[in-house]
Amino acid sequence: MDKLSKQQRHKNMAAIHSKDTKPEMIVRRGLWSRGFRYRLNHKRLPGHPDLVLRKYRTCIFVNGCFWHGHNVALPTRFLDCARNDRGIEEVKSSECCKIPKTNREFWVAKILRNKERDKEDQKKLAAMGWHCITVWECDLKPSKREETLDSLAFTLNHIWLQDHSSQKTNDTMEEENGMLMAAEERI
Ligand SMILES: [Zn+2]
Repeated sequence: MDKLSKQQRHKNMAAIHSKDTKPEMIVRRGLWSRGFRYRLNHKRLPGHPDLVLRKYRTCIFVNGCFWHGHNVALPTRFLDCARNDRGIEEVKSSECCKIPKTNREFWVAKILRNKERDKEDQKKLAAMGWHCITVWECDLKPSKREETLDSLAFTLNHIWLQDHSSQKTNDTMEEENGMLMAAEERI
């Protein structure tokens, strides 16, 4: 005897299924297996990045395409426009972010608020010297997953090399300045 309705069972199955395949887990596993180490949900950083890689001075956000409005077409001055109906009309769904037709105004406002917040958080993080990478849910579907994770690893290595080489330049300059000062002192 099956006590669960078909709908309930579907819900349960979906919950079990999503536990292991949720986008954040895919990124975590993918980076871990490529040798990267990270901290999770750093509460003290703006926007609570999903993964924080201190060695790379990088925060990674794994964003759901719907809630964060991936690729939605926005009017140029969308934040102003969103306050009137005309602006809301101009916001267009994308392949991975389909804005519901019912309560459209509510959903557009919500998605725009999220996008605005994302931008603010990343601005703050950049001002604190952090690199920010956004990984989108749709780029983690099975057919694209490995490519996305490889390119993420490539980007991280690139960031490290860049930071490291500019650090090296600073050290060299300091060293040269030090030598110059020492030379001047001797005179
Ligand atoms: Zn997407």
